[in-house]
Amino acid sequence: ALRRLNNCLLVPSFSQVSLSIPDFENGIMKFKQKTKDALPGSDWNPVYQTPGLPPEWADVVIVGGGVVGWSIAYWLKKKEKIRNTLRVVVVEKDPTYSKASTALSVGGIRQQFSLPENIHLSLDSACFLRNIKENLSVINKDPVDIQFNPSGYLFLASDEGSAALEENYHIQRREGAKVMLLTPQQLQKKFPWINIDGVAVASFGLENEGWFDPWMLLNAFRNKALSMGIHHCYGEVTGLKHSVQEVEANDGSTVTFKRIHHVHVQMPDSLEYQPVECSLVVNAAGAWSAKVAEMIGIGSGPEGTLAGTKLPVEPRKRYVYVFNCPNGPGLDCPLFIDNKGAYFRREGLGGNYVGGISPTEEDEPDPSDLEVDYDFFQEKVWPHLAHRVPAFQTLKVKSAWAGYYDYNTFDQNAIIGVHPLVPNFYFATGFSGHGLQQSPAVGRAIAELIVDGKFQTLDLSAFDFLRFYTDTKVLEKNIV
Ligand SMILES: Cc1cc2nc3c(=O)[nH]c(=O)nc-3n(C[C@H](O)[C@H](O)[C@H](O)COP(=O)(O)OP(=O)(O)OC[C@H]3O[C@@H](n4cnc5c(N)ncnc54)[C@H](O)[C@@H]3O)c2cc1C
Repeated sequence: ALRRLNNCLLVPSFSQVSLSIPDFENGIMKFKQKTKDALPGSDWNPVYQTPGLPPEWADVVIVGGGVVGWSIAYWLKKKEKIRNTLRVVVVEKDPTYSKASTALSVGGIRQQFSLPENIHLSLDSACFLRNIKENLSVINKDPVDIQFNPSGYLFLASDEGSAALEENYHIQRREGAKVMLLTPQQLQKKFPWINIDGVAVASFGLENEGWFDPWMLLNAFRNKALSMGIHHCYGEVTGLKHSVQEVEANDGSTVTFKRIHHVHVQMPDSLEYQPVECSLVVNAAGAWSAKVAEMIGIGSGPEGTLAGTKLPVEPRKRYVYVFNCPNGPGLDCPLFIDNKGAYFRREGLGGNYVGGISPTEEDEPDPSDLEVDYDFFQEKVWPHLAHRVPAFQTLKVKSAWAGYYDYNTFDQNAIIGVHPLVPNFYFATGFSGHGLQQSPAVGRAIAELIVDGKFQTLDLSAFDFLRFYTDTKVLEKNIV
């Protein structure tokens, strides 16, 4: 065995040969296989010593350790039929989470959507959050507290938008959401600090709405998933190694299927990497998920074909401003959204608020950095807020931040399910501003697809990838 080991250690050094990255990677894989064959049963590994490397194989690799990735990991373990039979690894490229949407979110949850799927996702998530201590607490650790602040969303509509708001209200009620309509007079009575000029109707959530700390939820999912045996590593997924199979279709044409067999994980600040052999990959890479899809050629086929259909997700920059107003609405403050989409909510108890507005397509800021544009508040946000809440005429902006929506440019809704041409590649992305609140129910849905082979609790097939090819929009009217 030692002679065989010596032979296999005789590999040329870098200075002797010039290798491309794939050659090098294949060489390393062969070399590792040889050392394994030479000393069967030994876990000696002469190539990689870096702690924190992902395991060499996993059943499921989740790309992205945001709230969605960790929720999927948790649910996969929760649904595991026999303990420790499923090996799952979550790969996150940024240990600081400095650009992750989860960490930069406003933390709201609402039932007031127009699509039944979105209403149910949030209803189920609210139920999960209500029981979060039971669901996510870990033995010998402090009970989970996501600082949930129950408070309804308040949507205002002018004459122009009143029919749509009322239609949404009827859908919400039909689907089981506790929402009420308010006339301008009722609105004035309930929230005397609102200027009701031009308001035709308002809708207000009575239950299962409010806001919470997104970072706490991410960590709660993460801690629980780790306690259940999920593997975790900080590294960037830079490649999806796959095989290709040509299949003849009924009409005589050829369909190309791909199957991922390795995920290439590059370690941070290092040349070291690890190929992780796997059965399934979940793309939970948020605003960067289109890049991950491109790694396996999604969208690179001829235009108008399924293979040429891109994952339509891109980072869209959104500003959140923190302002102070001692004589503002105070404690009884809903998550307020005016008829133009300007929003705010209370932040703590010291007269602080956070708010903003989504820009129009023409005003979309450059997403190459997360710099804040303070003029945007002055010109596009403040006039709306000060008009509706006269006390805000004297507000003072204290600070601000920007984050990325994982924005689905096709229909501003989630993409949940498997790619039709890559049957072991799943998507959980494109949430366009409502992914945090949907994360508990989305994690469960993806775990159902993987473990049970189909949706069990909520039918989310409307959110599949195929809709981009068939041009079937699943439009949500209530995007904030
Ligand atoms: C300003 C703002 C306000 C928001 N407000 C709300 C709200 O009130 N309510 C709500 O429900 N939602 C809200 N959202 C949206 C919500 O935050 C997101 O939809 C949700 O956090 C998405 O979670 P995620 O895990 O998919 O993405 P992220 O949290 O972005 O996680 C994805 C992770 O993938 C990692 N990654 C990417 N590429 C790779 C790779 N190649 N290899 C390894 N790792 C990779 C990234 O580093 C990142 O950490 C808001 C978003 C923003 C920006």
